[in-house]
Amino acid sequence: MKEIVELTGLSQPELISFVETLGEPAYRGRQIFAALQHRRLRSFDEITDLSKDLRARLNDVARPSSIKIESRYISSDGTRRYLMKTHDSLPVETVFIPEEHRDTICFSSQSGCPLQCTFCLTAQLGLLRSLTAGEIVEQVLIALNDAYGVGVKPPRGTNLVGMGAGEPFLNFDNLLKALRVMADRDGLYIVPNRVTISTAGIVPKILELAEVADRPHLAISLAAPTDELRNQLMPINKRWPLEELLKACKVFEKSLKPGERFTFEYVMLAGINDSEEQARQLANLLNRHGLKVKVNLIPHNPAEPLPYRPSADETVDRFKQTLEAKGVHTYVRRPRGRDIFAACGQLAARQEKLNIATLNACKDTTTPGVTTR
Ligand code: SAH
Repeated sequence: MKEIVELTGLSQPELISFVETLGEPAYRGRQIFAALQHRRLRSFDEITDLSKDLRARLNDVARPSSIKIESRYISSDGTRRYLMKTHDSLPVETVFIPEEHRDTICFSSQSGCPLQCTFCLTAQLGLLRSLTAGEIVEQVLIALNDAYGVGVKPPRGTNLVGMGAGEPFLNFDNLLKALRVMADRDGLYIVPNRVTISTAGIVPKILELAEVADRPHLAISLAAPTDELRNQLMPINKRWPLEELLKACKVFEKSLKPGERFTFEYVMLAGINDSEEQARQLANLLNRHGLKVKVNLIPHNPAEPLPYRPSADETVDRFKQTLEAKGVHTYVRRPRGRDIFAACGQLAARQEKLNIATLNACKDTTTPGVTTR
């Protein structure tokens, strides 16, 4: 079977080399790059400034896009959540969150996830596969087209968070490649400084990211202040326990730019990790390592068959106060898309009759919302 090249995952120089293999001049590569990444066109047939013959030849050896929206859930607060499907029918979830001064797009790095965090619905799926660079870029192109119209310039800047399904650091090369493609000023022009990647704590990759010249911001999912509890909630902790993780964070801290902080995410599970004692342990742990991080407390999004309940608001407030009293900057993540995320992941489940879920960055909620196609 001949290999079909996915053009959305190619950088501009790679696209130029690709068209040259077809005997086309370099400027055609630039033209196609702009058509896909700036005009956000989704098929060769829409690139009408290419000859019919070239479009036919391209259709033969390449594809501009491979994922499609399966369903779309729109919240009353404007948040748009998508279940997309890859060409091989695997689920990918993406969320578009409009805010006053910017939009944030939360993308997935893998379909499913191999880590077995016990509070996370994506874990129920296991790893289906890592996404290609093109599939990562496409989620952003599709979300922007859907929110504003094909190729329409967004009225605000776009931030990206790699907090959807999957472990981005287990798909490190494709992730960095996608970020390079998206940073091109002739395309989406979303620079790494507008991107935050969240990891469950893949230590070697944290160290590697620290060495990347133009790198995204980093967030670490902590969920517990002790190894004992973290081993239960996030089994990856057995491979890289807290001491090792925080030492890597300390190394990473040296790569921070002035004013840049990195974030620890802490999902609040009632009666499991939300006591005042645990808040003190967490603050002591961070202070002992001299880490100037900020902590984001995330309300747990409960769903069958997860065995946890979200912490009460007062408990979250108390946890925050205890951390702050020990000098740890703490924020409580405001839930968005309340009316559409209840089914967080059951989106995929309902579609696929699989008991799965995802899009963890977008916790919280109650009733399923509108779905349109
Ligand atoms: N694998 C990466 C990115 C995906 S998870 C990571 O672990 O960071 C993104 C965030 O969602 C993590 O902080 C995770 O702790 C959180 N999360 C997972 N399941 C959740 C749930 N059911 N409710 C609330 N937050 C959840």
